[in-house]
Amino acid sequence: MILGALEAGGTKMVCSVGDEHCNVLDRYSLPTRTPEETVPQIIEYFRDKHIEALGIGSFGPVDLNRQSPTYGSITSTPKLAWVNYPLMPALRDALRVPTEVDTDVNVAALAEATMGAAKGLKNCMYVTVGTGIGAGLIVEGNLVHGLVHPEMGHMLMRPAEGDPTPDGFCPYHKGCLEGVANGPAIEKRWGVSAKQLPPDHPAWTVECEYLAQMCMNAIVTLSPECIVLGGGVMQQEHLFPRIRKRTLELLGGYVRTPRIERDIDGYIVPPGLGINSGVTGALLLAQRALQA
Ligand code: ADP
Ligand code: ZN
Repeated sequence: MILGALEAGGTKMVCSVGDEHCNVLDRYSLPTRTPEETVPQIIEYFRDKHIEALGIGSFGPVDLNRQSPTYGSITSTPKLAWVNYPLMPALRDALRVPTEVDTDVNVAALAEATMGAAKGLKNCMYVTVGTGIGAGLIVEGNLVHGLVHPEMGHMLMRPAEGDPTPDGFCPYHKGCLEGVANGPAIEKRWGVSAKQLPPDHPAWTVECEYLAQMCMNAIVTLSPECIVLGGGVMQQEHLFPRIRKRTLELLGGYVRTPRIERDIDGYIVPPGLGINSGVTGALLLAQRALQA
C-alpha cells in the first residue's frame, strides 16, 4: 500500500510517499510560489504514484473545523497569494483519494509521539523554530485543535537581558516569541544570518533565554512529558544544553519531577525523525484518512 504526504511550508513544499508503516520511500521538494503555479506541480508528483490516501501538514493558519464551509483552506497567512486558498479540497478533488489535513506542527508532533523522540507518550509538544515559530500539541493522546488551533509561537515574552531589539519584529504583536526568536528576527537583530553566527556569539544567549521562557511557559500550562525542538534554527545543536539549563533556572525548582529535575537531557530533545517528522506525520494522517 502506498500513502501520500504533503508537508506544505511557506518556503517549500515537500511531497512524499510512504508504505503502510509510514516509512518514507521518497521525498521531493519544490519551492512554494503561487497556488496556480505550485499546486499543479504537487498534483503532477502524486499523479503516477498510485497513492491510496493523502495526508497534509500545512502552514497556517488553516481552517480545521470539519463543519466549516472552508474546511481545509488556508486562512489569514502573510503569504498573500495563499489567503483563503482551499488547499485540502483542491488536492482531494484532483487526486480523488481520502485526504486529511492538520497543521505542519501538529503532524510533526503526531509523528514524534508515534515513532520518534516522544514515542509512546500521551502528552508532548513539537516546536519548530525556523522562518516562523509554531507548536503542535498532543494532550492525553489527542492532537489539540481547540477553538482554532494553538498559536504558541505568538506567546508574549519577557525581554531578554542583552537583547538590543527587545521590541521584536512580529507584524501583529512585535515582541511575541516569533517576533524575537525566529530565524528572521535573529538576522534583523544582529545583521547576520542565523546560519552564520558562531556558537560563542551573544545572539545565542538571547535566543536561549527566549526558547527557555517558552519551555517554562509550556511546562507550567500544558505539563508535557517531552518537548521536541526542531526547525532550521535548532540545527545549532549547542543550543540544547543551554536551553535545558536556562529552563531549569527559570522553573526555580517549582515543578518537582525526576523527568525534569534529573533527566532534562531526555526531556528537551531534537526530533527523533530528523527532517522527516513532518512528512511522517502527514503519512500517519493519510493512514487515518483511509480508516475514517
Ligand atoms: P521553514 O521554516 O521555512 O520550514 P527552516 O525550518 O529551515 O524552514 O527555517 C528557516 C530559518 O531557519 C531561516 O531564518 C534560517 O536563517 C534559519 N536556519 C536554517 N538553518 C539554520 C542553521 N543551520 N543554523 C541557524 N539557523 C538556521
Ligand atoms: Zn506574533
